Amino acid sequence: MRLTSVGAARMVTGSSHLVEVAGKRILVDCGLFQGGSEADELNRRPFVFDPASLDAVLVTHGHLDHVGRLPLLVKMGYEGRFYATAGTRDIAKIILRDAAHLQVEDHKRDLRRAARAGRASEVLPSLFDVADAEEAISRFTFVGFGEALELGRGVTARYEPAGHILGSAYVVMEAEGKRVVFSGDLGNRQSSLHLTAVPPVDADAIVIETTYADRSHRSLEETRTEFAEVISRALQAGGNVLIPTFAVERAQQVLYEIYRLVGEGRIPDLPVYLDSPMATRVTREYRAGIEELKPEVARVFSEGGDPFDPPSLAFTLSTKESMALNDIHAGMIVLAGSGMMTGGRILHHLKHNLWREAASVVVVGYQARGTLGRALVDGAKEVRIFGETIAVKASIHTIGGFSAHADHDDLVAFISKSPRARLLLVHGEPEVMDEFAVQQRTEGRQVVTPELNVPLEMFG
Ligand code: ZN
Repeated sequence: MRLTSVGAARMVTGSSHLVEVAGKRILVDCGLFQGGSEADELNRRPFVFDPASLDAVLVTHGHLDHVGRLPLLVKMGYEGRFYATAGTRDIAKIILRDAAHLQVEDHKRDLRRAARAGRASEVLPSLFDVADAEEAISRFTFVGFGEALELGRGVTARYEPAGHILGSAYVVMEAEGKRVVFSGDLGNRQSSLHLTAVPPVDADAIVIETTYADRSHRSLEETRTEFAEVISRALQAGGNVLIPTFAVERAQQVLYEIYRLVGEGRIPDLPVYLDSPMATRVTREYRAGIEELKPEVARVFSEGGDPFDPPSLAFTLSTKESMALNDIHAGMIVLAGSGMMTGGRILHHLKHNLWREAASVVVVGYQARGTLGRALVDGAKEVRIFGETIAVKASIHTIGGFSAHADHDDLVAFISKSPRARLLLVHGEPEVMDEFAVQQRTEGRQVVTPELNVPLEMFG
């Protein structure tokens, strides 16, 4: 059995792993590389395998760094299906359409800029367009959790809940008498929405993500208390409260936490706006897939309530509705994307609120280096938004505990029922992987960290 990591090898994005076994070629995920020009170059490189030669593509979940190159696979000749759970298919649909849209918009902008510099001919075409995304979406085939998917020649795959986002799964592949697990992204046991993954039993090898292998998340209770305090303080300050949020999982989690706080009388029932058409669509899918979530969340729904709908929540879908919020200077909570404040409607809200002393920004997600979000968290006194200098007078609060990813203890729990499994570390920063590898080797594990595009024998 041979494994070639064609993404997320000693890095976090671009998840994609090729397995060659029993004469079959199976790809697990095909995500986009993200972050800067280096990522763009990696996305444009031809695949090291012939997409037409693949027998199947298994998709663990709908995040862009796991599905973003699926349209390219189709463009390059893959004729088969993308197997995924219902939740993954529904989230991937939203993510791929949005990505196609952005690709096309970015391309148009690059063209306009290059044209003014007299270099329009140097602009590369967009990676894929809306039609490519739609073709990829049409290739999805639904697989239920726990069902055995027969891939031929005795190779089977099964999807088990990973607790990361709606529909997320880890894959258990059985072939040639071996059981190999692909973790995909694993969830945080402190999630308020998702159930924790049940560890696989007696695996021979586990290809495992290591995003947060070096840290421990705070408990859900601590995070809830902190969130309640921050929101109360922000509301007392008298201005608006902006919560930049990722559309998938984080927006739903924050809505649910606000729903709880209002219900418990811990914060007043103030207007809350979900100003993100994408998050609104994802929230709809979360409602449709609610049985997959924690029983206390599902119970709200079965008792006629809606855990993602605090009493005075409004979804602002049109640009006009969104712009109308700019005239409100106090007393509302706005959730908007993008999560790292690199684009999207949150920029307009920041422009209209950051310079006001009474306003607050509550950061509930990871902020990568080089993003506007990171600059604010790091204490920037002024920032540039839409070419304008904006003074930062608002208070910036960071809630560290919300995370959709497994921490060190979650990862250790995940491998605990497979004591003999060889570990193949992926989807992490090199230093974090190396530290985890050293720890696991001292526990007597065999550990390998695949290099990008370098094939290795899984049991060699
Ligand atoms: Zn993910």
